[in-house]
Amino acid sequence: MTRIADLLASGRTCSFEFFPPKTDEAARALEQTIADLAPLDPSFVSVTYGAGGSTRERTRDVVINIEQNIGITAMAHLTCVGHTRAEIDSLLDEYKAAGVSNILALAGDPVVDDSGDVAESEFGFATELVEMIAAKGDFSIGVAAHPEGHPRSPDLYSDRRHLADKLNMADFAITQFFFEPEPYLRLVEGLAAFGCTKPVLPGIMPVTNAAQVVRFAELAGAAFPAHLVARFDAIADDGDAVRALGVELASELCQRLLDEGAPGLHFYTLNRSTATREIATNLGIDKWASRSAEAPK
Ligand SMILES: Cc1cc2nc3c(=O)[nH]c(=O)nc-3n(C[C@H](O)[C@H](O)[C@H](O)COP(=O)(O)OP(=O)(O)OC[C@H]3O[C@@H](n4cnc5c(N)ncnc54)[C@H](O)[C@@H]3O)c2cc1C
Repeated sequence: MTRIADLLASGRTCSFEFFPPKTDEAARALEQTIADLAPLDPSFVSVTYGAGGSTRERTRDVVINIEQNIGITAMAHLTCVGHTRAEIDSLLDEYKAAGVSNILALAGDPVVDDSGDVAESEFGFATELVEMIAAKGDFSIGVAAHPEGHPRSPDLYSDRRHLADKLNMADFAITQFFFEPEPYLRLVEGLAAFGCTKPVLPGIMPVTNAAQVVRFAELAGAAFPAHLVARFDAIADDGDAVRALGVELASELCQRLLDEGAPGLHFYTLNRSTATREIATNLGIDKWASRSAEAPK
């Protein structure tokens, strides 16, 4: 059982995020993606969780399969809003029994009932889930961070203050994606000002489809800078050129983050491998784990 906190204590990590597939065909595609990415020797991979428990079994099954059968350290995302404490408790027991020891503790988005009102929940914020997981013992706990502030935060100051409190109770954070290094660097500085120096892994989303990323960025509260939008707009009719530019920009972003001392890189793969593999090649990484203690130059 590998704890991500221990990996981070001994060097930089490289990780890939997947979502649980809905169909047999999508499951086969994910299997292929994992096989294509495995030679990069990731430190760990993570699997998202549908808010309110909509992917509860699928997420659990994919995480346990990766951990037990594929042999890569796996982290389960887990959202608490909309769940009872008893439900969370039994899922944590299942993970523990299966040897899964890493959880990304999330609030999730508010669950809305049939009449459109926000449903009552035993959980309000991610910190309550962090506390519950910590009380179970043995798990390494990650939390979510938003470099440009969570969309529900009234201001950046309160966002950073709540994040510092949450992260101080956990082992590490993973950020929402962003497109230039400054929001990440300001986040790390802002947390330090609140006395929090736990590792913050930058989340990287290579642009492979500009319209899709603009939509994601709006939802995630991440600014897609106008000068980058203009570069993608200029080549919008050429899918290959968009992908190539997305990989080039993400590679530059990763290198800058590593140069600035980021504790690792976390890739939002959208269950595909090509862009992530191309970025690894651009960074001169063939196998991550064997060289994690030093920054790729
Ligand atoms: C790396 C990453 C992975 C993610 N994976 C998933 C996933 O798998 N499934 C999914 O559904 N969603 C996922 N999300 C999205 C996340 O669930 C949403 O952003 C959700 O709306 C908030 O979750 P949180 O854990 O950041 O919440 P919290 O940390 O609880 O924060 C939510 C808001 O409440 C504020 N807040 C926190 N504590 C307090 C307090 N004590 N008093 C007042 N305000 C407070 C915060 O400032 C913030 O504005 C992910 C996000 C990231 C960055």
